[in-house]
Amino acid sequence: MGKKVLVIGEQREGTLRNVTFEAIAAAKTISGDGEVVGVLCGSEDLSSLGQEMVAYGADRVITVSNEALKQYTSEGFGQAIMAVIQDENPEGILMGHTAIGKDLTPKLASKLETGLISDATVVEETGGNFVFTRPIYSGKAFEKKIITDGVIFATIRPNNIPALDKDESRTGEVTAKDVDVKDIRTIIQDVIRKTSEGVDLSEAKIIVAGGRGVKSSEGFEPLEELANVLGGAVGASRGACDAGYCDYSLQIGQTGKVVTPDLYIAVGISGAIQHLAGMSNSKVIVAINKDPEANIFNVADYGIVGDLFDVVPKLIEEMKQI
Ligand code: FAD
Repeated sequence: MGKKVLVIGEQREGTLRNVTFEAIAAAKTISGDGEVVGVLCGSEDLSSLGQEMVAYGADRVITVSNEALKQYTSEGFGQAIMAVIQDENPEGILMGHTAIGKDLTPKLASKLETGLISDATVVEETGGNFVFTRPIYSGKAFEKKIITDGVIFATIRPNNIPALDKDESRTGEVTAKDVDVKDIRTIIQDVIRKTSEGVDLSEAKIIVAGGRGVKSSEGFEPLEELANVLGGAVGASRGACDAGYCDYSLQIGQTGKVVTPDLYIAVGISGAIQHLAGMSNSKVIVAINKDPEANIFNVADYGIVGDLFDVVPKLIEEMKQI
């Protein structure tokens, strides 16, 4: 029997995050011949973003627009989404495992008195059960979880579940719902972004990451150039961040961002377990390191043993020819 699955969409400055579309694809696996209902919060008219969710497979979308939802707060978004959940009574709820998803979903789960599977990388149906695969022990192993009772509630790790192709001919209603969002005690006055302009690290398809081997903030400039040529983003190890070569917002790993790009180029990074926890699920890993014994080569698909200051400029020149 089909199920109704709610997908909590996420937008940033008027652009939907890709993980929203990936969550819709995952929701399709669960809904069967039921329906996938998108929900979006913000302060502006969200109808065109709602239509975009439909084009990616949502059967219909509910938008909640309210001045109090201009910036994300768990109180404001929590009230708005709970109101939609109470109206819709879904059997499943999915959201991206993003900073907002990690903050909001436990709050919703506790209000609903239900469990939550976080950071799923695969969702599949086996023998009538919906099986969620998620990494454990800093990505060294995977566990499979099923929900036997209550709402099927999970967050989806970005860049793992392929989104459906966008199809503008898909049709679905986008309806606006009024929610009286009130008593918000958190007021966000300003958001100052520390990440560099361009591709968002957690959704980037290509990442060029630098480690302590890069030796200085100037040493990161060729990595930025390589990332630009490839249309990717720059990341870093904690070693590089601790040394002050770059901002902590670029840190990848156990205590930084978890990324799953198609291509991860690790430059002057030794491959400590805490770094691998954030990137070892990347689809193709290329390591550049002058030490042939460096641990990063154990997870790399391709390794270049050499001085990064020779190798990176050559790569940039080669890539510019393509
Ligand atoms: P190093 O280990 O110093 O490696 C530098 C590498 O550069 C070496 O392999 C060297 O051979 C190579 N190199 C040097 N010069 C060149 C050159 N000219 N050309 C080519 N290669 C060169 N780390 C993270 O990254 N992310 C985390 O989230 C994180 N969380 C942590 C949490 C905890 C609780 C702890 C204890 C540690 C954590 N760490 C984390 C730190 C981690 O243990 C390592 O210390 C860190 O990843 C090392 O960074 P690195 O590889 O850049 O530096």
